[in-house]
Amino acid sequence: MHILQTQAISKTYRKTKAVSAVILTIQEGDIYGFIGKNGAGKTTLIRMITGVAEPTSGSFSLFGLTDPKEVIRARSQIAAVVESPALHLNLSAYDNLKMQCILLGIEGNHKEVIERVLTKVDLLSLLVDRKKKAKNFSLGMRQRLGIAMALVNNPKFLILDEPNNGLDPEGIKDMRLLLQKLNKEDGLTILVSSHILTELAKLATRYGFIDKGRLLKEITSEELTKQSRTALLIQPDDIQAAKNALKEALITDVEVEGNKLRVYTELSSSKLITLLAKASIEVASIVQVQDDLETFFMNMIAEAKS
Ligand code: ATP
Repeated sequence: MHILQTQAISKTYRKTKAVSAVILTIQEGDIYGFIGKNGAGKTTLIRMITGVAEPTSGSFSLFGLTDPKEVIRARSQIAAVVESPALHLNLSAYDNLKMQCILLGIEGNHKEVIERVLTKVDLLSLLVDRKKKAKNFSLGMRQRLGIAMALVNNPKFLILDEPNNGLDPEGIKDMRLLLQKLNKEDGLTILVSSHILTELAKLATRYGFIDKGRLLKEITSEELTKQSRTALLIQPDDIQAAKNALKEALITDVEVEGNKLRVYTELSSSKLITLLAKASIEVASIVQVQDDLETFFMNMIAEAKS
C-alpha cells in the first residue's frame, strides 16, 4: 500500500518555487531517506503533508485516500518531529507525555500509554524519575522523548525532519537503532529528511533526492548498492578510442566523467591498462573508486544541471 503519494505537488513563496511538481511515493514499511541540500525544499514538502502549509498546486494521497476531508482525518495516523521536538522544557518526561495524551484526546489509561512509549524509546527509567525536567536531558534524550511524544497516538507513519541535528555520534547511532526497531517491530513507515548522508546510507531502505524543489530520483537501497559498485576510474588519452576498445572487449558498463572513464569491470588495473595499450591507448591515471551515497547524490545534481 502507498502511505504517501504526491501528485505534482508544488509550493511557491512569492517568487521562490520551494517545491516544484514533485511526484513522490512512500510505500508501507519504507524508511524513506529524503535527501537534499539546505533550501532544497524538504521542510516545505513535509509542511504540506502535515497540513502546516497549503500546496500552491497539485495534491497528495495519504494511506490511499485522496478526498481532502479523508486526508485531514488520515493525518491522525501520522506523527511528525520537525527539527527540535516540541517539548515543555520545564516539565518532566512523564508530564510532557501526559499533556500530549490530553491534547490528543487519548482515551484509556494514560500511565499505560506513557509506559508503552517510554519503553519503545528506551527511556523507561523516566517513568519513575518525575523530578528531572526535560531541560536537563541530553539532546539525544530529548530527541527520543520527542519520538515518544509522536508515538502516543500509535501512528502508522512517522515523519522526522533532520533528527540527527546537533547529536553526537553515539546519539546518532542510538537514533538509527531506535528507528530501525520501530520500523521492524512495529511496522512503522518512516520518512526521514537529512543532509548527513553517511548516516542515512546506514538507515534508509529507499531514497528520494530533491534539488531546487525538484525531485531528481527515487531509488531503493538495493538499487543504490547496485549502482554504487566498485569501478576503475581511468584517464585515457583518447576517450572515444578507449570506449571503443573496451566495447570490443565486451566491457560496456562505462561512464564518461569529464576527461575520465568510470569502468565497471572485474579486470584488475594492470589488465585494463594492458588491454588499452594493445589498442595504442595511453592511460595517464587509474584509480579504484566506489560510489557512496554522497557521490551518487552529487553526480545526480551535476547531471540535472547539464
Ligand atoms: P533546510 O535543510 O535548510 O531546512 P529544506 O530543504 O528544508 O532546507 P525549505 O526550508 O523547504 O528547504 O526551503 C525551500 C525554499 O523555500 C528555500 O529557498 C527557502 O528560503 C524557501 N522558503 C521556505 N519557507 C518559506 C517561507 N515561509 N517564506 C518564504 N520562503 C520560504
